[in-house]
Amino acid sequence: EVSDVSEVVEQVFDNFKMIHPDYVFILDDDVQRPVQAQIYRNHLEQILIILMDNAVKYSQTRKEVHMSYESDSRSLEVAVQDFGEGISQENRDRVFNRFYRVDKARSRTKGGNGLGLAIAKRLIEAYHGRITIESALGQGSVFRISLPILSDKDAQILTEKKEQAQAANDVPGIK
Ligand code: ATP
Repeated sequence: EVSDVSEVVEQVFDNFKMIHPDYVFILDDDVQRPVQAQIYRNHLEQILIILMDNAVKYSQTRKEVHMSYESDSRSLEVAVQDFGEGISQENRDRVFNRFYRVDKARSRTKGGNGLGLAIAKRLIEAYHGRITIESALGQGSVFRISLPILSDKDAQILTEKKEQAQAANDVPGIK
């Protein structure tokens, strides 16, 4: 599945703006459109929701979240930045483990199971992408995902292949 990334990013951005009116959301979308990546739309959406949800949850001191994306001919990068509590160096790898939460005592009040980032990482890696963290304790975090993207030609080839496969599978008279 090929998704228009700008559309998905903007949709998630608009939803968060609506759901959290007490936060300032800034979108840096200075790119040429459309940006196409080979990822199922719902998967990209889910990854972005997990990152945005965390950015909001863990930045109650400074309620500002930035989203940006950029691409060149080979890859696409989407970043979600908050200015909240940050993640210590030793916890930066652990947060991708299932059920790992930095502050265990908080689990009751803030909800969450420690699954979000484990899911996001699995999803992005299934598409040969990467997810990285840059963070400073007390200052905030940047989560970046990168994905290989398709040239127009590759996208066209892929669509044609899909159509051929579909045609080969179609048995006359059976839906
Ligand atoms: P949920 O399962 O609902 O996503 P969760 O937020 O605890 O719950 P993860 O999204 O996997 O689970 O995050 C794991 C831990 O990483 C969090 O508990 C939190 O301690 C830390 N974390 C994640 N994102 C951030 C962030 N933007 N700033 C600071 N800490 C973060």
